[in-house]
Amino acid sequence: MDITYRLEQKRKVLGDFPGPKSLELAARRATSVAKGVASSVPVYVADADGGVIHDVDGNSFIDFGSGIAVTTVGASDAAVVGAVKEQVEHFTHTCFMVSPYEGYVAVAEKLNQLTPGEHEKRTVLFNSGAEAVENAVKIARVATGRNAVVAFDHAYHGRTNLTMGLTAKAMPYKHGFGPFAGEIYRAPMSYPFREENPQITGKEAAERAILMIQKQIGADQVAAIIIEPIQGEGGFIVPADGFLPRIAEFAKENGIVFIADEVQSGFCRTGEWFAVQHEGVVPDLITTAKGIAGGMPLSAVTGRAELLDAVHGGGLGGTYGGNPVACAAALAAIETMDTQDLRGRAREIEGIVKDRLGKLREELGADSIIGDIRGRGGMLAIEFVKKGSGATTKQPDGEATKKIAEYCLKEGVIILTCGTYGNVIRLLPPLVIGDELLADGLDVLEAAIRANS
Ligand SMILES: *Cc1c(COP(=O)(O)O)cnc(C)c1O
Repeated sequence: MDITYRLEQKRKVLGDFPGPKSLELAARRATSVAKGVASSVPVYVADADGGVIHDVDGNSFIDFGSGIAVTTVGASDAAVVGAVKEQVEHFTHTCFMVSPYEGYVAVAEKLNQLTPGEHEKRTVLFNSGAEAVENAVKIARVATGRNAVVAFDHAYHGRTNLTMGLTAKAMPYKHGFGPFAGEIYRAPMSYPFREENPQITGKEAAERAILMIQKQIGADQVAAIIIEPIQGEGGFIVPADGFLPRIAEFAKENGIVFIADEVQSGFCRTGEWFAVQHEGVVPDLITTAKGIAGGMPLSAVTGRAELLDAVHGGGLGGTYGGNPVACAAALAAIETMDTQDLRGRAREIEGIVKDRLGKLREELGADSIIGDIRGRGGMLAIEFVKKGSGATTKQPDGEATKKIAEYCLKEGVIILTCGTYGNVIRLLPPLVIGDELLADGLDVLEAAIRANS
């Protein structure tokens, strides 16, 4: 990595926060912004670059969240900023469905080239991850003439009506928002840390899901199986080796469209361009968003030409889909990922973090609150359990998890939690974070875990 940062890469907390300016904004927000939108931290942002976020009161936080895996190249990558400036000076929007432009085509070419598989591909662009997922399902239904869609336990696919239906967790994502779209079925996931039979292989876990699909739906009724190769909101669950390849193979044998939802795991996050590549899986369709455009809103469905081209003209689209400014940002962000070798950097980060956390777990002993350390690249997690239950009942400890995140924030480190049981801390630093800042953030996290052990 060879990066010149605009902001000093240092953690700095000036006593108590939120400071006066953040408090003032919070008061304005309370009477203007819908309560349903929650924020993880109480401070308001003034600037962000590399691995730091500065608030309006002069505090500098270490960013271990990347705005939920979005700012992989940092929140103000020079190449992205330059490309955005250049594009906005010419045109901000024309609507690709009205008068097309090169940026959209160039992003499609890039995605067709970067995604796994040598087959002929097509891409269609949208704005959000949920929109990409919805459209992947639409494409699969038209291409197969079938209706049923299979998602998995602990899945997260978005907050629109169809994607809420695909998402597993009721509170807060679905509670009270029904009725949901029909023909959605949920299959058992491979969750190595919480398997009743810890010996179960990935292939056996896949057969368990396949049996459910065959018996409860019928394989010939299924349009698509959608899965996050590493589950995000559900707890950074990495399925056992062999699970994804067997599910993909079953889909192929039965004319089912295999959709990899790489909205969170894509674009170098796990140490490969896409997480399915760790197991050599080639999806029929792949949905991307989050890390794709250095913070600008953009999402995509990329996949087999015959599937995407099965949809009638005008069947796919949207006013803003593939906005020219977002496309310019995406091309620049992908360029930065390449020139800075952010795949390699993600693997380095994995090494550094797992080494530190592994040592800590060893020191704290087998009955500590650290139940599991998992993930790939810069998509890493710790699952916390009640002290002493790690070897037996593995009781989730959401309380300790919350306290650890609060401790970190107080010390100037922004850390996100996730998981069906709210007991997982996820680490998603910008991949351009420097070693020193990363180490400082991990020092804080380690102290937080000790304080709650
Ligand atoms: C965040 C996420 C989505 C939804 O993306 P939005 O841009 O918030 O609509 C879908 N799938 C996965 C795996 C995600 O992590």
